Amino acid sequence: MSDPRPKRLLGKVVVVTGAARGQGAAEAAALTREGARVIATDVAEADGVRHLDVTDASQWAQLAAALREAYGQVHGLVNNAGVTWRARIGDVSAEDFARVHAVNVTGPLLGIQHLTPLMPPGAAIVNVGSSAALTAHYPVAYTASKWALRGLSKTAALELGPRGIRVNTVHPGFIETEMTASADPAFRASNLRETPLGRTGTVDEITPLVTFLLSDDASFITGAEIPVDGGYTAHGGAKSISDALQQQPDA
Ligand code: NAD
Repeated sequence: MSDPRPKRLLGKVVVVTGAARGQGAAEAAALTREGARVIATDVAEADGVRHLDVTDASQWAQLAAALREAYGQVHGLVNNAGVTWRARIGDVSAEDFARVHAVNVTGPLLGIQHLTPLMPPGAAIVNVGSSAALTAHYPVAYTASKWALRGLSKTAALELGPRGIRVNTVHPGFIETEMTASADPAFRASNLRETPLGRTGTVDEITPLVTFLLSDDASFITGAEIPVDGGYTAHGGAKSISDALQQQPDA
């Protein structure tokens, strides 16, 4: 049976980066279901996915030219592509630090620079941050890059606001994808202990917010940062105190 609800992104052209798998693939599928014409992009190959290395300005220029030719306008950009690198502050090399920054920060910058000239008023950008962007998560290259992405998002919201272009940031917590599948089991267990909802999240729990932020339902929301993390970043470290006291006999 077809969904009787009105499609919220009908006729909108939306680019999603890192869309070969994980959250990006789920976002591309969800946005398509809402009526968007999605251009799914990635460095990895997948059916229906266009090659785009987000760190390469010339590839962004080629994509922008192709979209100008095909559609004339772009209404949405999801800067989802990201990489982690789990080296600690004493071990990380300057090369790895720069490589992570290039994908997670310079990539979104290049996307914004190349696609906003095609964006009409009402267009929207969603940057995918992380709970690492709100905490002292130990993989320092990743954490620093996601904090930098917050700065980029805020500045972009400020500068693009007068043109009617909105820029918001989604901060996923521990979401089940290939990225987290490669994490140490101890990381997973500690994460669960710090998450009030007591479980990990799924890609389908990220897509509704991304869809909303791209849609006209969010027409007065810009510069916002929204965690989707089961409460992980909400308690500022106080969960262990609450949990410990609850285990006291007279709690
Ligand atoms: P994933 O590793 O499954 O997918 C990331 C995708 O980005 C891959 O398809 C990869 O090929 C692509 N990519 C990597 N480098 C690229 C480049 N230079 N150009 C284009 N594409 C590139 O990870 P995911 O969990 O789906 O992550 C999506 C986003 O969510 C990332 O920005 C990540 O940092 C963020 N995030 C993930 C989690 C989580 O728990 N999974 C938590 C917080 C934030």
